[in-house]
Amino acid sequence: MNIGIVGGGQLARMLALAGYPLGLRFTFLDPAPDACAAPLGTHLQGEYDDEEMLKQLAASSDVVTYEFENVPESAVIYLSEHTTVHPGAEALAVARDRLREKSLFRELGLDTPAFLPVDSLVELQQAVSEIGLPAVLKTRTLGYDGKGQAVLREPGDVATVWEQLGGVPLILEGFVTFDREISVIAVRRASGEVRFYPVAENTHRDGILSVSRCRSADAMQPQAEQYVRSVLESLDYVGVLTLELFQAGDRLLVNEMAPRVHNSGHWTIEGAAVSQFENHLRAILDLPLGETRAVAHAAMVNFIGTMPASAEVVSLVDVHLHDYGKLPRPGRKLGHATVVAADERGLDVSIEALLSLR
Ligand code: AMP
Repeated sequence: MNIGIVGGGQLARMLALAGYPLGLRFTFLDPAPDACAAPLGTHLQGEYDDEEMLKQLAASSDVVTYEFENVPESAVIYLSEHTTVHPGAEALAVARDRLREKSLFRELGLDTPAFLPVDSLVELQQAVSEIGLPAVLKTRTLGYDGKGQAVLREPGDVATVWEQLGGVPLILEGFVTFDREISVIAVRRASGEVRFYPVAENTHRDGILSVSRCRSADAMQPQAEQYVRSVLESLDYVGVLTLELFQAGDRLLVNEMAPRVHNSGHWTIEGAAVSQFENHLRAILDLPLGETRAVAHAAMVNFIGTMPASAEVVSLVDVHLHDYGKLPRPGRKLGHATVVAADERGLDVSIEALLSLR
């Protein structure tokens, strides 16, 4: 079987690495000449809305999937008309727009930060007086890794953030003083089978995910599963879906969803019985899903901007290196290491050692 992937970055690369043992072959559509998934399959080098390229992708793939959600709507529609595509157009449209996704969460009865749409300075002033300060102003589309957003702490910030972000559709959110950030990754196949990974506890550095730690038997697991199940079912979703969540006391608030494999699930490559990447492929091919339990104490540390020397990483105990083969650039995710340890203490030691390499 041939799998087409829109995007040829590290997520596409790790999907291919998981798919080869299953006998799958891959075609990637990506405009970058040096897309890091390219060595693992056929690379169609072109823009995401290039109809000729989309035609070739559809023609060469039994199923098409995505490694990111900001795919032009016209491309999603074209592909859906010409081949099988998972996840579906509606899931992508919802995930692309922060207002639509938060509105869906609210409709489903999930707890979210307070939010209001903002399309003008007057609406921003009204939203601030309704939601209160501090608050976070975000672009509705195309934001990632903390880009396209600004925090308002005092009334005087309104003009400054409007200057910074105004002119595109926005959403104002109440600022959540959370105790921790967690994510839940679930997978659903077309025939309805659903599985959930243990939640991951996430810490960020400069707005980019730095460490994800698998938390088997976390007190928030049942509620996180209930949240993600309701989103999966409401969208008749097929594939891996991630919810990013804030925990504040015993409240669990949904921040956003990612309709794809997720950075906070990289620990599953060596740390779970079957990884998020393999399970995504199984789901979109409607194969039975694999076990999602953690096989040991597991975590992931991202390498951002620079890669440590391979020898230093692989010399650490219980550590697996994943180098995406990308050119270094500030703020760029270049690789990660997964740690799979027999106990929490061993996990802590290896995480600390990896953090000190950066
Ligand atoms: P996002 O792009 O929505 O994932 O936001 C990036 C990061 O900004 C999150 O991981 C949080 O650390 C922080 N953040 C986003 N929204 C809020 C919020 N409503 N309250 C507090 N922190 C937030």
